[in-house]
Amino acid sequence: DNHLMAGLSGAAVGREGEVFAEVPGGADVTFGALFTGAERMAAALVAQGVMPGDRVAVQVEKTVAAIQLYLGTVMAGAVFLPLNTAYTTAEVAYFLSDATPRVLVCDPAKAAALSEVAKGAAVLTLDDAGEGRLVDLAAAQQGFVPVARGPQDLAAILYTSGTTGRSKGAMLSHDNLLSNSQMLRDYWQFTREDVLIHALPIFHTHGLFVATNVALLAGASVIFLARFEGEAILEAMPRATSLMGVPTFYTRLLQDARLTRERAANMRLFISGSAPLLVDTHEQWEARTGHRILERYGMTETNMSTSNPYDGERRAGTVGFPLPGVEARIRADGIEVPEGEIGVLEVRGRNVFKGYWQMPEKTAEELLADGWFITGDLAQRDGDGYVTIVGRAKDLVITGGFNVYPKELEALIDDLDGVLESAVIGVPHADFGEAVVAVVVRSDPTLTEAEISTPLAQSLAKFKQPKQIIFLPELPRNTMGKVQKKALRETYADLFT
Ligand code: ATP
Ligand code: MG
Repeated sequence: DNHLMAGLSGAAVGREGEVFAEVPGGADVTFGALFTGAERMAAALVAQGVMPGDRVAVQVEKTVAAIQLYLGTVMAGAVFLPLNTAYTTAEVAYFLSDATPRVLVCDPAKAAALSEVAKGAAVLTLDDAGEGRLVDLAAAQQGFVPVARGPQDLAAILYTSGTTGRSKGAMLSHDNLLSNSQMLRDYWQFTREDVLIHALPIFHTHGLFVATNVALLAGASVIFLARFEGEAILEAMPRATSLMGVPTFYTRLLQDARLTRERAANMRLFISGSAPLLVDTHEQWEARTGHRILERYGMTETNMSTSNPYDGERRAGTVGFPLPGVEARIRADGIEVPEGEIGVLEVRGRNVFKGYWQMPEKTAEELLADGWFITGDLAQRDGDGYVTIVGRAKDLVITGGFNVYPKELEALIDDLDGVLESAVIGVPHADFGEAVVAVVVRSDPTLTEAEISTPLAQSLAKFKQPKQIIFLPELPRNTMGKVQKKALRETYADLFT
């Protein structure tokens, strides 16, 4: 038995002729075709020498064939290792030397350059139309019986987004992935009646394990978009039931007048995660569509850990409650903090990964012997049990010995008229250690620094007030909508030195 595949393919049994993926501008893909193609890819990988436990590294555009490659890798008993399509050859070279895969699948345009750095890996190609040498090899193969793998065997190594430092390879087992996706399917009530708009990248946990696995486990179908495109999402919405997105999906869709209550009438669920959803976005979305976005929280290392309820109040600005089977605690200095106070969030459960690939020391520091994983996110819990993510421990500013939580300032700044959004960071300062700097994106270009600093001075202690305000046309973000505070800190590192 192949633990994860037995789960993922279960809902498709007896429904081989039904559509799994509607691909705008392309042919529909049935459940039968999805899994038959995956079996052929598994056979092709094994023919390339892939053995159980080997890594299969993948840097390809988003296609149904890439999903089949994921499924085929798991069927072959190997470890799926997807890489962000934005990574350069030099960056991919690091991941290849770190993970030593048996096979690298990449876009044909990159094959020559990546072959130079592939070390011992066989290089196969897969393009943005789902064609290439891999598919040619797979076409010559017949069926495949999945290689037996148990719950504790690795199914994937997923590198973290690299928001706070160099990406780390999170080792995820069959049980990590299957148990979390099954629980999410039930918690969010996904069924075969669902049609999910799938517009997230599939090199990240959100699009790969949350969206794809939940849809497959439910036997739901997907409208499969190669990337976020507001036009295509709005076009799909009347025949869809659900959308999983990062906050930027929602802010961009709100800018389109075609987003209306009528257009969203068939939808039952909008989910947001991977970065904080502003309360303002949540409220605007409800006013426009009548739907309250369900925000959840997770990490590459843990899959999903908390979620707002499906039934019950979805509280804006919070990430809801620990999910079924997930324990959560918030600690400071080794002690659980009282309600309302800020500490570091720790989680434990079947969702928690097996450790960082080839980083035993880091693993030992963050994944405790009794199973608790220190997320590195600061959080607080309110009287009703709702968890709020206050930011990352690494983004905490310590100025003159005092803690400043960027989110407290960001919330105040974002509320001012003429402000679109903001990011508060700490930069080196000779006297204070770190100085508070506010980076602000204006909606009103005439807004002045004084119009920000004056109201802040009225509501904040002196040590929390920004020493400098910087206006930018937009905040630096990655494809998952995460604000790149590390990049901002680097840019403004010399402001006070
Ligand atoms: P790295 O670990 O390499 O620095 P990363 O933490 O951004 O990168 P991911 O695993 O993709 O890599 O992201 C997980 C993080 O995303 C969480 O630790 C948290 O900081 C943030 N996050 C996810 N969902 C939410 C949410 N709903 N609200 C606020 N933050 C969120
Ligand atoms: Mg992280």
